[in-house]
Amino acid sequence: MNTNNMLLIDPHVHMTSRTTDDYERMRKAGIVAIIEPAFWLGQPRTEAGSFKDYFSSLVGWERFRASQFGIKHYCTIGLNSKEANNEALAEQVMELLPLFLYKEGVVGVGEIGYDDQTKAEDKYFRAQLELSKEVNLPVQIHTPHRDKKAGTIKSMEVCLEHGIAPDMVVVDHNNEETVKDVLDRGFWAAFTIYPNSKMGNERMVEVVKKYGSERIIVNSSADWGISDPLSVPKTASLMLERGIDPEDVRKVCYQNALDSFGKSGQMHESDWLTPANVDQREKFSDNSVLRGGQTPVVGDINTSGELDSNIVR
Ligand SMILES: [Zn+2]
Repeated sequence: MNTNNMLLIDPHVHMTSRTTDDYERMRKAGIVAIIEPAFWLGQPRTEAGSFKDYFSSLVGWERFRASQFGIKHYCTIGLNSKEANNEALAEQVMELLPLFLYKEGVVGVGEIGYDDQTKAEDKYFRAQLELSKEVNLPVQIHTPHRDKKAGTIKSMEVCLEHGIAPDMVVVDHNNEETVKDVLDRGFWAAFTIYPNSKMGNERMVEVVKKYGSERIIVNSSADWGISDPLSVPKTASLMLERGIDPEDVRKVCYQNALDSFGKSGQMHESDWLTPANVDQREKFSDNSVLRGGQTPVVGDINTSGELDSNIVR
């Protein structure tokens, strides 16, 4: 993997489900900032309190944990489409959202949209679009895996119906079937690079060759399933190898993520361009990422993503 020390952003990755090894590998591969969308945890939550604690960890502990490896962590907060189908719970979650959307590092309402395209999903998708206007944040849309094309088009139509500007909406999990519709309508088109399925690296190279780099964004959506938190650097590397202009690679693997979610006013390049200082002596609510006897690392991340450490003894 060679990206010539290019700075990278992964604007869709569920770090809560990943390990510190992942953080280390991501930073070494050039990832300087990430966005963690609120989503579902693999099994349905039964209490609003579980949502509250999860949202709190996205703006708290996980943000801290990333900082301990020299990565800037941002998140989007929302009620995911799957769990929107539990209406009694959904009502309570809707009341929690405004308490979190104004927090530092929250760059959007997400990931929201359709899963099975049910009535309840539609209701809470629309309610959250209204909320996004109130708080003036971008929207991160999860498009359905089944009946994708229709679901993607419907998601965009509903946004327009609610008077949301296309450049405030990142439509995620695109493929060759949906990309043209999304770009033609002026929305941001994000692509998830799953290992061995859906958008493979090679296919992403072809998409950029065909559609260029305007409003196209690459992410990993790595989570608790089989996924790869290095999807963005690997794709950047392959694009360079296949002769895609480095400026185009920079756009789809860095700049477009910043330009879209930067509209939140919460995400600035200066957040990470000042040398990332790592101090593993720091604690969050009395907890550190270290375990007994481990030596804290303190130092700056150099341009190769390596830690120039002064080990504290
Ligand atoms: Zn996701």
